[in-house]
Amino acid sequence: MPTASTDEGHIASSESDLSFVSKIENEEGSALRACLQCGACSSVCPVSGFMDYTPRQIVGMARSGLSERLLKSKAIWYCASCYACTEVCPKKIPITEIIHALRRETIARKTYPKRFAPPLLTRSFHGVTASRGRSNDGLVMLHTYLREKPLKHLGMIRIAGKLWLKGRLELLPDAVKNRADFSRLVNGSTERVDGAKEVGS
Ligand code: SF4
Ligand code: SF4
Repeated sequence: MPTASTDEGHIASSESDLSFVSKIENEEGSALRACLQCGACSSVCPVSGFMDYTPRQIVGMARSGLSERLLKSKAIWYCASCYACTEVCPKKIPITEIIHALRRETIARKTYPKRFAPPLLTRSFHGVTASRGRSNDGLVMLHTYLREKPLKHLGMIRIAGKLWLKGRLELLPDAVKNRADFSRLVNGSTERVDGAKEVGS
């Protein structure tokens, strides 16, 4: 099997999904292939030290079509969307938007790490807002915790009670009048993000 070596490891040709490269490029109008691998993006990223792949590696892997590895990584969920990498990139590659596109793809394919809070929070937030027309902290956190580690979060019930007593947590969440129409509108424009039917329905 033909292979190539990069600092992201050994890449078998069967691992390289070039249609994925085109898809990400088309979505973001970016030329991933223009990346110089200079590392300026990684040097300014405030969270690159916590990532399993740095921003430079993410771009390198995306242009090599390493969709399987990227769409299972935690790195894309650690991104704080600060745009520092995009600002310094000499080739004006919209790295932050690429990471957002990778997140959307990850949720669509459900390849994110199991019981990992950031993607679960994203799904819950989308589900609650899409089905009710408004976000609700209590519902979003409840759905996230139930999917993550329900038992681990039992202690949060006490905190939730205190917040409710202080009027900081609504037990009966607000919703727009015509929820069904609103939900259709939202899901029509974000068909690939699931969870809307499961959460808050
Ligand atoms: S700053 Fe731009 S050109 Fe340099 S490694 Fe990052 S994405 Fe590539
Ligand atoms: S947008 Fe994300 S990847 Fe880019 S510098 Fe900020 S945290 Fe790092």
